[in-house]
Amino acid sequence: MSFAQVSKAWGDNHVLRGLDLEVKAGEKVSIIGPSGSGKTTILRILMTLETPDVGLVTVGGDVLWDAKPGVKNKETKQTQKTRRKVGMVFQQFNLFPHLTVLENVIEAPIHVLGISKQEATERAVDLLELVGLQEHMKHTPPELSGGQQQRVAIARALAMRPRVMLFDEPTSALDPELIGEVLNVIRRLATTTDMTMLMVTHEMRFAQEISDRVVMFDKGVVVEQGPPDQIFKDPQEERTQRFLKAVT
Ligand code: ATP
Repeated sequence: MSFAQVSKAWGDNHVLRGLDLEVKAGEKVSIIGPSGSGKTTILRILMTLETPDVGLVTVGGDVLWDAKPGVKNKETKQTQKTRRKVGMVFQQFNLFPHLTVLENVIEAPIHVLGISKQEATERAVDLLELVGLQEHMKHTPPELSGGQQQRVAIARALAMRPRVMLFDEPTSALDPELIGEVLNVIRRLATTTDMTMLMVTHEMRFAQEISDRVVMFDKGVVVEQGPPDQIFKDPQEERTQRFLKAVT
């Protein structure tokens, strides 16, 4: 996946300023940086929930956005096709509260991918087992803890067989005692799958543990990036040093 000279502004608020970022297939990358610096916007552009003002975004070698300056850029057929390769787990799980856990997981594969209910169900059962929720398939989200709901959200995203998984601060809405179970699931995905993973996180130790590369982001640009040990133990940029001192 790649961003080349991608910019996005809301009025005078220039959130992305010519962002260049490349993530190789299968790579696990964490984005860190201060609040409001544009990290979520990067993920939302990949999910086509936001449109860049300008710049090229590709996923798996295919164009997602080719936004030109001075025109109103819209989704194209190509955007919609490429977008299918991307799955996202949000801070606020975004499950359908009136559907069961199983129904939440099979909904999109049936209606978007057009696979049979039986096949979708078989795969959903496997995925719910993977995230440790096979016993809760018939429950609805409000009957589950936040950590369980977030694990359903992970299974739901995986059910679409994405090549790229995005995690937007997946534990930030959870009570402290529920964070570990969600991180365990993400850790397992990072170590056992060849999916590309891009995660925005405040969990510095976790980012250090599971990432191939950490990207320090501020004010719409990449400040510094490198292997986790280098970024966390020997950051080169003053901005990174200041940020890490404040959060660790
Ligand atoms: P946090 O860590 O707090 O989630 P972030 O680094 O993910 O922050 P973003 O959520 O990407 O930052 O937001 C960057 C800036 O863009 C913020 O100033 C935010 O107010 C602004 N912004 C985001 N979405 C919109 C929108 N739909 N309309 C207007 N401004 C927006």
